[in-house]
Order: sequence, then C-alpha cells, then structure tokens
Amino acid sequence: MTSYPHLLEPITLGNLTLRNRVVMGSMHTGLEDYPWDIDKLGAYFAERARGGAGLIVTGGYAPNKRGWLKPFASEMTTRLQAIRHQRVTGAVHEAGGAIALQILHAGRYGYHPFSVGASSIRSPITPFSPSALSTKAVDKTASDFANAARLAQKAGYDGVEIMGSEGYLINQFLATRTNHRTDRWGGSARNRMRFPVEIVRRTREAVGEGFPIMYRISLLDLVEGGQTWDEVVELAGKLEEAGVTVFNTGIGWHEARVPTIITQVPRAAWASVTARLTEVVDVPVCASNRINTPELAEEIIASGQADMVSMARPFLADPAFVAKALDDRADEINTCIACNQACLDHTFSNRRASCLVNPRACHETELVLMPTLRPATVAVVGAGPAGLAAAVNAAERGFTTTLFEKHAELGGQFRLAMQVPGKEDFADTLRYFTRRLEVLGVDVRTSTEALAADLAAYDHVVVASGVVPRIPVIEGIDHPKAVSYAAVLDGSVTVGKRVAVIGAGGIGVDVSHFLAHDPSETVEDWYAHWGVGDPTLNPGGLTEAKPRTPARDVTLVQRKATPIGIGLGKTSGWAHRAVLKQSGVTQVIGATYDRIDDAGLHITVDGTPRVLDVGHVVICAGQESVRDLYDVLDHRSVHLIGGADVAAELDAKRAIKQGTEVVAAL
Ligand code: FAD
Ligand code: NAP
Ligand code: SF4
Repeated sequence: MTSYPHLLEPITLGNLTLRNRVVMGSMHTGLEDYPWDIDKLGAYFAERARGGAGLIVTGGYAPNKRGWLKPFASEMTTRLQAIRHQRVTGAVHEAGGAIALQILHAGRYGYHPFSVGASSIRSPITPFSPSALSTKAVDKTASDFANAARLAQKAGYDGVEIMGSEGYLINQFLATRTNHRTDRWGGSARNRMRFPVEIVRRTREAVGEGFPIMYRISLLDLVEGGQTWDEVVELAGKLEEAGVTVFNTGIGWHEARVPTIITQVPRAAWASVTARLTEVVDVPVCASNRINTPELAEEIIASGQADMVSMARPFLADPAFVAKALDDRADEINTCIACNQACLDHTFSNRRASCLVNPRACHETELVLMPTLRPATVAVVGAGPAGLAAAVNAAERGFTTTLFEKHAELGGQFRLAMQVPGKEDFADTLRYFTRRLEVLGVDVRTSTEALAADLAAYDHVVVASGVVPRIPVIEGIDHPKAVSYAAVLDGSVTVGKRVAVIGAGGIGVDVSHFLAHDPSETVEDWYAHWGVGDPTLNPGGLTEAKPRTPARDVTLVQRKATPIGIGLGKTSGWAHRAVLKQSGVTQVIGATYDRIDDAGLHITVDGTPRVLDVGHVVICAGQESVRDLYDVLDHRSVHLIGGADVAAELDAKRAIKQGTEVVAAL
C-alpha cells in the first residue's frame, strides 16, 4: 500500500520500462561542460537514481558547435564524448536508474558570437545577434540532432529528450516571432513545423524502433508572436507520426515576462494546460513546472491531467524524493522552495548549480557527511537556517546533538520570510528540519536562551545566533510611527493604509509586497495580473494584464541613486520588481532621511525636502550580527556561522551552507 499509487506505478516507453512515473527533469548544472567533471556528474545522477527517480534527464547537450549554450559548452558530437559518457550511464545503471540525454540547440540564446537562429533576430536576453541558418544548414542541423541521439545510444543512454521548448532553436523555428524565413523552413505554420518534425523523423531512423524519444513541447510560449494552440496541437500530431514516444511539456520562453517556476507561481499552475495536450495525443504526456510534492504529482496523474510528472529542482533539494514517498515519509522530504538562488541564479551567472536547502547538490563528491568515528557531543545555539542545518547534519553524522533556541518556535528570520506573499513554501523548509530533528532524536530546547555556562560540557559548540534588524540613526526613530519589519511580519504591529518603507534591499522589497498585496487574490487573479490567458483564444497564451488593487499606498525609499531591486536574484529579481510596479508601490531613490514625526517621514531628494504623510514607517535597513554569547565563550571547540558570523549579504543559502560545512569538518 502506498499513498501515491498512480505516481509510483511503472510505465513502459518503447522498449524501456520505468519503475515509476517520476522524471527528474533536465537541469544544466555546469558539470556537463568540462570533461574532467564527468565523474562528479555521474555521482550526482547516481545519488538521484539510488533515491528512486524513474527516469533522469541530463542537462542539455548541443548537437553541434553552433548550438552551444556558451563557448565550449556541453555537446554530443563525437564517439570519444559518447565513450566518456559511459561513465555517467554506468553509474546510473549500477544505482538502479534510467537516464536520457537531452539534446538542446541554443539557437539565438547561445551566449557566444557564433550563435545561429531561424532568422537573424537578437533575443532580448543575449548580447549576440545570431546569423540566420542557410537552407542547407537547417537540413544539416536536423541531421546533427539525429547523430547526437545515435551517439547517446552508444553511450548507454536509455533514451533522448529533444528540447523543443523554452525558446531554444526549435521553438524559434516554430514561432512567427523569430521565424521570418521565406524558404521551406518558414512562412506557413506547416513550414515552421518542418524543422522539429524532420528532427524527430531522422532521430527515429537513427536510433531504430523502441528507443524512447521524449520531445519537450512548448505548450505556452508566453511571448508576443508565439504559437497558437491549434498549431501546438497540430505539431504534436505530426511529431507523434514522426516517432515521438512521450511528450514532456514546457511553459514560457526564457525571455517571457511571466514567471513560470519561481515561488510566487502557484503550485501546479500549468497542469491544466498539460491536460489539454493529454486529451488530444495517444502517447504519454509528462507534466512539469512548479510541481514539488508527491501529493501534487499524484493528484496530477490520478486526475488524468498527465501520465507522468517531471520535477527538476526538487531533485536538487532532495535526491531521495521518490524513496521517501515510497516509504510514506513525505514529511521528511527536503522540499524545493522555488527560490532559484543556488540553481538557476548560479547557472545564469556561469557558476556551478547547487541548492539553497541542500548545498551538497552537485558537490556530492566534495561535501561529504561521513558517520563520525569519534562520538562526541555538539551544542548548536540558534535555530535559524544556519543552526537547523548544523544540528540536523551533526545528528546525521552520529553526534549527540542539542539545539538551543530562545524563541518558542524554530526558524529564526525564515519564519518572517514565509509571511511574504509568494514565499509560503519556505514553511516547508522548517517542516523538513523540524521533522528530521525529531527523527534523529536531537534534544531540541525551544524557549531556552543558551548561556555560556550551559555550553561548557559539550565537546563542540556551534554558534548560529543570527541577526537582528539594524536600527538606523534617524531623528525620531523612537517615534511610535517607526516600526521594525520584524514586528510587521510577525503580526505584532498592524500598519495603516499609508506607509513608507525605509531600505530597499531584499527585505524592503518583500515587505513592500507584503503591505501592498491584496490577501483576497485568487489563483485566477494571479494569471490575470500576469496576462496569462486561455491559449485557445490567445496566441502564446498571452492576454492583456489586469491591474492589481493594492491593499495599501506604499512608498519604498532608499539612499542609493541606483534603481531599486537591482541586487535581487538574477532569475527572479525582475519578477519581484514587476510586482512592485503592478502594485503601484512608489519608489524613491537618492533620499536622505531627515526625521520621523507626527507628520510622517521627512526626506530630502535632489536637495528638495518632502514629507511623506504616512501612518507608519517600516524600517528595513539591514541587519546586525548577534554575537554577545560568542564574545564571552571560552570554549576549546567553538564555531561561528550564518548571520552571527557575517551579517552583510547574508541569505539562507550561505547560512545553510555554512551550517553543513562546519559539521562536515568536525
Ligand atoms: P537567524 O535566522 O537570525 O536565526 C538565529 C536564531 O538564533 C534565532 O532564531 C534566534 O532566536 C536564535 N538565538 C540567538 N541567540 C540565541 C541564544 N543565545 N540562545 C538560543 N537561541 C538564540 N534569505 C534567502 O536566502 N532568500 C530569501 O528569499 C529570503 N527572504 C527573506 C525575507 C524576509 C522578510 C526576511 C526577514 C529574511 C529573508 N531571508 C531570505 C534571509 C534569511 O531568512 C536569513 O538570511 C537567515 O534566516 C539567516 O539565518 P541564521 O540562522 O544565520 O540567523
Ligand atoms: P540589504 O539587502 O543589505 O538591504 C539593506 C537596505 O537598507 C539597503 O537597501 C540600504 O540601502 C539600507 N540601509 C542600510 N543601512 C542603512 C542605514 N543606516 N540607514 C538607512 N538605510 C540603510 O539587507 P536586507 O534587505 O535586510 O536583506 C538581508 C538579506 O536577506 C539580504 O542580504 C538578502 O540576500 C536576503 N534576502 C534575500 C531575498 C531574495 O529574494 N533573494 C529577499 C529578502 C532577503 P541604502 O543604503 O541605499 O539606503
Ligand atoms: Fe529549489 Fe531553491 Fe534549491 Fe533551486 S536553490 S533547487 S529553487 S530550493
């Protein structure tokens, strides 16, 4: 008996039978790009195979050099590369898993001067103008896909995924936005579809019957000039005829200005669109995007919306996702919170991907937590993300662990973060840590402030006492109108209709969103605010966005003269900035704070004094480390981590990483 009978049911794709219907979706981690990382890549996938994933899909490999994502990026073009990949496929098979190679031609998204496209139209997210492929070169490129698939077969892969979505080359051929060709590969919808259909036809010819070909089809392009729904359906039919075994689904091009996977996107937001494809094709369909729990995945399959579910980032967060679901231990899954901070933000800044909640991701052979050979006691002070990671990992290693937290609840600043609209998933991180502490038998002492004397008896002490909000020196800072973000988010202060926010870092932006957000917003409203419409009526699924009705009149102020929010996450910052705009938050830059009094907040901008007539001024002026305990500790083995160590540029990614690393080194 299992709670997930549909999800965990085997499925046959061509000559491959999978043990369950969970696909670990493709993610480019950076380990694909260098031959010397091949065994790290193998270890990373093998850990996910041991953790029960039904089918793993690799990051994207280009079928030729023009298709590179960046200079010298991953490709599958030679026998030598195929032979090297046997180390990856061997590791996965030995761990009981199955793995498919994704073939991805970046087209105009290639971050290099040799990029090519259907037409010579530069994308808004790359600095390079692509050359238009010649008629002959299109033909050759289609054959290169087939060649890459044949090499993948030689390398021992169990299948291939052809990347036809997210705005990469194939998608560029399909949409009038990027295909202005007048030859047989452009013009009518039928001509625009010829390229993917040829790719699949030639790939099938190259790999023979039975070898699974998964095609990632773009269901909603979410860009102007995207495909119509009729075109998507027609394409799916032609691809089936050409030899596709299974459809994976993609939502939105990378240049789309609608968020598709970050935390503020409602969970399973796109499953209903997938259901429309499932209705009209005969081969299995796989749902993807913003699905992060086994319950959701089960529901999608059980309700017939899809036959399989692809989850990518959830496997960075927890390699044993499926094994835990199988054992009915879903409450022990380390859930992906869709923050993008350590995965996509890293990838898009040319750094190796990892995971905020699991810093071992993509570092499996480097950050190793071995059972300890020297039993010892460990005291951890503070149960914010840093202390929670330290306590759980210490107990995992076999140390007898005690966790002190002066508040009644665990979580530190993360408890405040999860109050922000769209960050509700952060609560899952605290659920995970809390449950693991329980399972591992950690002695958790909440409502207990650790004092130096309490710690003397422990072999090791980890101080993770975190941060407190900075109180800036401003005349009138002790006026009743001035309140800390912590008091606003924890509900101890209720602010009125007009409010100013001092400080526009990550927390100032979040607090402005919290204050302006209309709590009655439904999922349907979310689609409407982002201009997502019925794809059968709106090409690309885009329609006119419906304005938000802000709950309050919010003014966000900073001293710097730079645009607000430029330091936010590389792949999510634009969406946070867009929400501020949609919510009518007034942004003031280059301000000096004169005073706070009964009239409100007095500021000077460009030499002109102004008064913001507000009921409250919320202070979001950064943090300061809490070190009072550490400063008086006289202990042989004491370690300082997280915000207590350095408050500047602190985030939960660093806090959890430090908490893990410190314990790995004990
Ligand atoms: P803290 O979270 O400050 O935890 C320290 C803990 O130690 C506290 O619980 C405190 O009570 C306890 N403590 C202190 N002294 C003692 C003692 N003597 N005895 C016992 N207990 C003690 N980060 C991100 O990465 N991404 C985000 O999107 C994000 N959003 C945020 C949004 C908001 C609104 C806020 C407020 C923060 C956000 N953060 C985000 C930041 C993140 O929450 C912090 O970086 C992180 O919590 C710091 O972790 P920490 O463990 O070092 O410290
Ligand atoms: P922060 O990003 O350092 O921002 C602090 C803000 O306060 C700055 O904008 C600064 O702007 C202002 N400030 C600093 N000292 C001041 C003073 N003495 N008087 C008045 N204003 C002052 O810190 P934060 O917003 O508190 O966030 C803390 C951490 O949480 C961040 O490092 C961030 O990584 C993390 N976080 C991340 C996210 C995310 O989405 N990834 C979201 C929230 C928080 P000026 O100096 O220009 O006025
Ligand atoms: Fe998920 Fe954030 Fe980890 Fe990426 S970094 S896998 S989004 S939790």
